[in-house]
Amino acid sequence: MEVAVIGTGYVGLVTGACLAEKGHRVHCIDIDESRVQQLNNAISPIYEEGIEELLKNGIKRDNLFFTTDYEEGLHQKDIVFLAVGTPESEDGSADLSYLYKASETMAHYINRDITVVIKSTVPVGTGEQIDEKLNSIVKPGVNIRMASNPEFLRQGTAVYDTFHADRIIVGANHPEAKKQLEELYHSFHLPIVVTDIKSAEMIKYTANSFLAMKISFINEIANLSEKLGANIESVTEGIGMDKRIGSSFLNAGIGFGGSCFPKDTKAMVHIAESVEMPLSLIEEVIKVNEKQREVLVDKVRSRFKSLEGLEVAVLGLSFKPNTDDMREAASISIIRKLVQEGVKVTAFDPVAMERAKQVLPEQVNYTDSLEEAIKEKDATLIVTEWNQIKDFPLEKYVELMATPIIMDGRNCFEMKEVQKYEIEYHSIGRKTIN
Ligand code: NAD
Repeated sequence: MEVAVIGTGYVGLVTGACLAEKGHRVHCIDIDESRVQQLNNAISPIYEEGIEELLKNGIKRDNLFFTTDYEEGLHQKDIVFLAVGTPESEDGSADLSYLYKASETMAHYINRDITVVIKSTVPVGTGEQIDEKLNSIVKPGVNIRMASNPEFLRQGTAVYDTFHADRIIVGANHPEAKKQLEELYHSFHLPIVVTDIKSAEMIKYTANSFLAMKISFINEIANLSEKLGANIESVTEGIGMDKRIGSSFLNAGIGFGGSCFPKDTKAMVHIAESVEMPLSLIEEVIKVNEKQREVLVDKVRSRFKSLEGLEVAVLGLSFKPNTDDMREAASISIIRKLVQEGVKVTAFDPVAMERAKQVLPEQVNYTDSLEEAIKEKDATLIVTEWNQIKDFPLEKYVELMATPIIMDGRNCFEMKEVQKYEIEYHSIGRKTIN
């Protein structure tokens, strides 16, 4: 099919490249010229496993194109996806300005019947609003078929997730839009849930709020377990075997970050408030998460009398492993607090250091060697559970650090493994080893 995707971020780029891989002819449109230039040279502006291979394939096969020109990108298209950002506004609501701008620009170039699909995460009712807006701009006689197809990929495994999604949600009030989307995704061989547009929009926020709730829930239980001398990993194993609960998404740590959970939970609360139906449970999920961000710094404060002049390694900067995305990364607030309190921070991350430099305080030192990062340090804080960090030999901490103290915010190591070494080990929801 002839497809256009507007926005080539984590979602738009992966969607466009995967659809091209399945044989569709895809034009990806972005306003960022340097991004489009990079993409035309098969260079990915984001770190995502497998994406550059898809870019090369699509460009070579001549069915994947990148442009800043809406007219070129929309020419003779059957379906257009809107995949621009919907970041958090100051009041916590979703900022739809990028979406409004992109749809308005697009409307001026639509001159045939087309299915417009919102892939961005948007508040319930947005699809209908955009539908009205588009119809007020396009030429008389041109039919816009509106649809919603929220995205569930995870950064770090986005390409894999697109080809192996648990389900595809298609929200369409128009039978032709539904038929086209089913045809578009036919070769993915994935279960498709077809519903109306508002329910599809609701599904996305509900899914993210539920997952965020699981994280905040287990983090509170972890804090309590730690206080009472229980081990959170035994607790999650024990509850996870109950099929009604399940074991996924129950890893205790220093909370959720990234470009989705923090903003989507806040937007969900905002949506509920706007119809005077407060979601107190989700409000608490957000508060618990904000508190959990403090846990690692609190551990440092209670372990050391004074933080002034302390030399600390921070391992992992991106909001989660296998991505270079720094949006709402726990490392940002942790490092800012440490620096404010006079700590000398040396940071290491396998891929996110360049992006990190744009948001972290200028006092931070960076190294691309994990060994160098921990050398002669008073403590090491583990903030993101990259495999390079999990697989790094524990004896090196003993050998290289001034005092081998690890504050592990992601429970990277088994307790019995750490016990073999002379390491002081603080983690989340487990006893301290010293
Ligand atoms: P992003 O910030 O990585 O990318 C957005 C892209 O849109 C940028 O390249 C930007 O230049 C482009 N853009 C902005 N205005 C434009 C315009 N008028 N015309 C053309 N291009 C324009 O965003 P993202 O992380 O890909 O997220 C996109 C949407 O998908 C958001 O609503 C987000 O909530 C949702 N989502 C994201 C993820 C994720 O893991 N990142 C997962 C599921 C859903």
